[in-house]
Amino acid sequence: MKNMAFKIVFAFLFVSSSLIVWAKPKPDRPKNIIFLIGDGMGLTQIFAGLTMNGGWLFLEQLDKIGFSKTQSSDNYVTDSAAGATAFSIGEKTFNGAIGVDSLGNPKETILEMAEKKGLSTGLVATCDLTHATPASFAAHVGSRKQADSIAIHMANSGVDVMIGGGLDRFKNRKDGLDLVQVLEKTGMKVMDSTQNFRNVKSGKLAWFGGKEHLPSILNGRDTSYLKDASLKAIELLSQNPKGFFLMIEGSQIDWGGHNNDAPYVGTEMIDFDKTIGAVLAWAKKDGETLVVITADHETGGMALNGGSFGNKSIDAKFTTGGHTAVMVPVFAYGPGAKKFTGIYENTDIFWNFKKLLIKKK
Ligand code: MG
Ligand code: ZN
Repeated sequence: MKNMAFKIVFAFLFVSSSLIVWAKPKPDRPKNIIFLIGDGMGLTQIFAGLTMNGGWLFLEQLDKIGFSKTQSSDNYVTDSAAGATAFSIGEKTFNGAIGVDSLGNPKETILEMAEKKGLSTGLVATCDLTHATPASFAAHVGSRKQADSIAIHMANSGVDVMIGGGLDRFKNRKDGLDLVQVLEKTGMKVMDSTQNFRNVKSGKLAWFGGKEHLPSILNGRDTSYLKDASLKAIELLSQNPKGFFLMIEGSQIDWGGHNNDAPYVGTEMIDFDKTIGAVLAWAKKDGETLVVITADHETGGMALNGGSFGNKSIDAKFTTGGHTAVMVPVFAYGPGAKKFTGIYENTDIFWNFKKLLIKKK
């Protein structure tokens, strides 16, 4: 009898001690945040890409899903500036606003807060880096059209990694300012499209893939560009033991919508999804990274009236050459992902980021 009790106690101790060894508690707050924005990526754009990809996307791996209401402070239909600023400062603002509130006051962005906390920061896009979405994280101006001022803000922003287009905003400027020099003074390696960012192994990097926007996939953008740029940014930023905040934009899904061009939408969606797959694979290995994927708004009022997975074909119709007002999906993975389920305002994405990444632990 005594022997039996001893055996039970022993078995209990054995099981519980192995649980301690094996059930390493998962952190409830991330060390890093990777925020992927598919500009103009509504449900239809996602399903167009899924169909043209033969019936699947990497995006389907995510199971913490919500919806974001995209209205701006002055319009039922947001633009990309107010949409991205809602994510970056946590306040609804007017269409065209870059990193300023509805009264035009500059507000600290989530990227700047992360920087202040000692984290590394990065911006990756398939457009000119001074374009509305990336600009809203590192600049503060009343209008998205002030691209020359936006470039000055961004050059002085302290962002550690910038990969995208827009070299002409930093060099060859009308005012004669050489912002490449400003970037280099901060210790950044500045490269253009004749050089390969893939060879950079450490430090701060600004890579410009063109004078303006990068070409679309249909017009010859390297299909490994966005994926490789994102993985390179992660490789460089993750060398900071304190963590990082990285925004990656699939900029041109929106432009396919504006053009009412279904193949443009679908190819950009598939390209963005390939990046999502690579980022998720990294985050799964890392275990301390929150990945959030969403859109600033839907573009084109796109609908699928028919299609075929087998033929990878879609019959798409559009209702507008502009944006629409509908909610857009939000997908999350990693520590804190649960916070992104439900239906909420786009500004809540900022507040969740702030709670998870910035507030003292
Ligand atoms: Mg954009
Ligand atoms: Zn747009």
